[in-house]
Amino acid sequence: MVLDKLGSNLRNVLNKITNSMFVDEKLINEIVKEIQRALLQSDVNVHLVLKLTKIIKDRALKEQMSGLNKKETLIKIVYEELVKFLGEEKKEIVFDSKPTKIMLVGLFGSGKTTTAGKLAKYYSKRGKKIALVGLDVWRPAAMDQLKQNAENVKVDYYIDKDEKDPVKIWSRFKEQESKYDLIIIDTAGRDALSDELIEEIEQVTEAVSPQEKLLVISADIGQTANVQAKQFHDSCGITGVIITKMEGTAKGGGALTACAVTGSPIKFIGVGEKMDDLETFNPQGFVSRLLGMGDIGALLEKAQEAIDEEDAMDLSKKLLKGEFNLIDLYSQMKTMNKMGSFSKIMEMIPGMSKLKIPKELLEGQQDKMESWRFIMDSCTKDELENPDIFNSSRVERVANGSGRDIQEVRDLLKHYKKSKKMIKQFGGSEKKMQQMMKKLGGMPGI
Ligand code: GDP
Ligand code: MG
Repeated sequence: MVLDKLGSNLRNVLNKITNSMFVDEKLINEIVKEIQRALLQSDVNVHLVLKLTKIIKDRALKEQMSGLNKKETLIKIVYEELVKFLGEEKKEIVFDSKPTKIMLVGLFGSGKTTTAGKLAKYYSKRGKKIALVGLDVWRPAAMDQLKQNAENVKVDYYIDKDEKDPVKIWSRFKEQESKYDLIIIDTAGRDALSDELIEEIEQVTEAVSPQEKLLVISADIGQTANVQAKQFHDSCGITGVIITKMEGTAKGGGALTACAVTGSPIKFIGVGEKMDDLETFNPQGFVSRLLGMGDIGALLEKAQEAIDEEDAMDLSKKLLKGEFNLIDLYSQMKTMNKMGSFSKIMEMIPGMSKLKIPKELLEGQQDKMESWRFIMDSCTKDELENPDIFNSSRVERVANGSGRDIQEVRDLLKHYKKSKKMIKQFGGSEKKMQQMMKKLGGMPGI
C-alpha cells in the first residue's frame, strides 16, 4: 500500500487514543508528539508538521463534538485536520467543453508520458473518445513511448518525429480536435525549470489553450516538491498536480503535503509503472484508508458501539458496587439516551433484564443532557471523580466556564446526589429498581 509506514504509525496513534482511559492534556500531548514523529518520518516539512499539530492540539483541548465521546472527538479531529492538510476536497477534472484538453508539464523523468497513457486508459474506460498528442521534441524516444502507450490502451495518437517545433505539431493536429472528448498533451521536460522550459510551456499553452495544465511530479523528491510546485505554479499557471511513484517511496507524505499547500489541487496519484496504476486523489478517502478506516462513518459507528458496550459493562459493575461519580453519571446519561444501550446495562445487572423502561422517561432529556454536558466539560478531573469537593466558588467557576446558570450547575449536583443515594439503596432487586425509577421520574438518571 502507498505510505505503509505512515499509515501504520498513524493507526498506532488511533489505537492509543482508543485504548486510553481518559482524554486529558497528557494524552493529547503524547498523541501530538507521535503524529509529529510519523509525519516527519514521511518527510513532511517540519513547519507544516508543527502548524498541523498545533491546530490538532488546540482543537482537542477545547472541542467536544455532539454525539461523540472525547476519544471519538479526538479521532475525528485528527482525521479532519489530516484531510484539510491534503486539500480537503476531491477536485475532479470537469468536462464542460468539447474537446477538453489536459496538458501535462514537468521535469525529465517525472512520469509525464507514462501518466498520459494512464489518463487515457482511465477516461476511455469512462466512455471518453481520446487522443494523445506528443509535443516532446527534446527526447527522440519520447514520441515512440507515447505511441506505444496509446496502442497499449487503445486510443488514437498524433506524433511527428521530424518536427522540432511543438507549436507546429499542434497546429497540424488541431483540425482533428473536434473528433475527441479528451485530448491529452505530452510535453517536453528539462532537468530543472529553466527559462527556456518556461518559454516553451508558454508557447504551447497559447497554441493549445488547455482547460487543465497538470504538473507531473515524482513523489520520491519528498518535501522539495514544494519548491517545484511553487515554481511551476508561479511561472506556468498550473491547475493541478499529479504525483507519481507514490508506491515506491516513504517520502510520499512530504510530496503530497508540499503540493497541497501550494493551492494546486492534487488530482491523481501514480502508483506503479503499468497503465492501470493510477488513482484519483480524494483527501477524505486517502486519509481514511491511511488510517485503516475504510470509511470514517462506519468506523465511528463501530467505535461508538464498542465503547458503549464497555461503558455499559463498567457502569453496571460500579452500580453493583455502589460506586458512582459524575463521570459515571455522564456516561449513564449518554447511554440512557439510547434505548439500545440502556437495555444492555439492564441485561448486565442480574435480575434486571426483564425490566421495562417507560418511554416517557427518555423523552425531553436531550436539552438537559446538552446543558449538563457543557457543565461537565468545564469541571476538572478531580471534580468529576469526586463531586463532593464542590463548594460555592467551584460552582460559580464551572457556571462561568460553561456559560450556564449557577442554578443549572446546582441542579446537576443535586441530581447526582439523588442518583447516588438511590444507587446505594438499590440492592439488585427488580421491584426496588422500579420504585426508584418512579421516584426519579423524568430524570436521566436511573
Ligand atoms: P517523463 O520524462 O516525465 O515523460 O517520464 P516517463 O513517463 O518517461 O517516466 C519515467 C520513468 O518513471 C519510467 O521508467 C516510468 O515507467 C516511471 N514511472 C512513471 N510513473 C510511475 C509510477 O507511478 N510508479 C513507478 N514506479 N514508476 C513510474
Ligand atoms: Mg516523456
